[in-house]
Amino acid sequence: MTPTGRFAPSPTGRMHLGNVFSALLSWLSAKSKGGQWLLRIEDIDPGRSRQCFADQLMDDLEWLGLTWDGKPVYQSERSEIYEHYFEMLRAQGITYPCYCTRADLLATQAPHESDGRVVYPGTCRHLKEQPNKPAATRLIVPDRDITFVDGHYGTQSVNLAHHVGDFIIRRKDGAWAYQLVVVIDDALMGVTEVVRGCDLLLSSPQQMYVAQCLGFTPPQFIHLPLLCNEQGQRLSKRDGGLDMGALRQHHTAPEIIGLLAHLAGLQSSPAPITPEELLPTFSWNRIPTVLPPVKESDLPTL
Ligand code: GLU
Repeated sequence: MTPTGRFAPSPTGRMHLGNVFSALLSWLSAKSKGGQWLLRIEDIDPGRSRQCFADQLMDDLEWLGLTWDGKPVYQSERSEIYEHYFEMLRAQGITYPCYCTRADLLATQAPHESDGRVVYPGTCRHLKEQPNKPAATRLIVPDRDITFVDGHYGTQSVNLAHHVGDFIIRRKDGAWAYQLVVVIDDALMGVTEVVRGCDLLLSSPQQMYVAQCLGFTPPQFIHLPLLCNEQGQRLSKRDGGLDMGALRQHHTAPEIIGLLAHLAGLQSSPAPITPEELLPTFSWNRIPTVLPPVKESDLPTL
């Protein structure tokens, strides 16, 4: 099987340094194995996705030297495929309609979940179906540990019933949920490795479970440490000057790649370099599990 990586951005804004970091490492990981790297535009949220952001994103990737193989896949064009697999889950009797509102969910939040996540308590699991009332669809999760070996963080074990609860696979407005379609697309596109930020670590057991229900072999998951500023906070739009629009005004592509490669432990200084030039020495073993902070002096626009 050809090693196959992918980048799966949501076109809801301009790419920022953190997105570029994921794209670069995912590209290096796949290409260093002689594999292919695919691009999937995750434009499933009709309210937030814009074609202009997708266009800009592809222009930014090309400018950076992160070229993808084949044509980009647009999730917005794949509804019929998703419908088929959604029906497969429904036919197994492991889904149910959920009528809860956001306010209902917040009101039932377990006090021990201090990080703001709501573990769905199963409120609608045993309700009678109410035809004509708009409902999201949830997938019933098993009360057992799901274990996988993350390519960077090692063995992870998560009990979805305790940490997530039954999760949404289709929204109340009919839009497909990320956790369902990401699994279908990764499987149908032949993705063998998923490289992404460790903020999505808890998504992996959910996606492994969906894959198992649909009879797919899950890809290998490799999560990345998140870029932080000097105060130890995750880099965000607040840090200004970090989106590709601003970065491109003040820096060359090799300068941006050079800084990211340095933060990733792939070179000893932030000297300008291209993705191609990083390939021969790329190794996951060189990448730390906690990154040094991005310093203001690294990028004059910060
Ligand atoms: N569209 C998701 C995001 O941009 C993709 C996450 C993933 O790589 O699975 O966060």
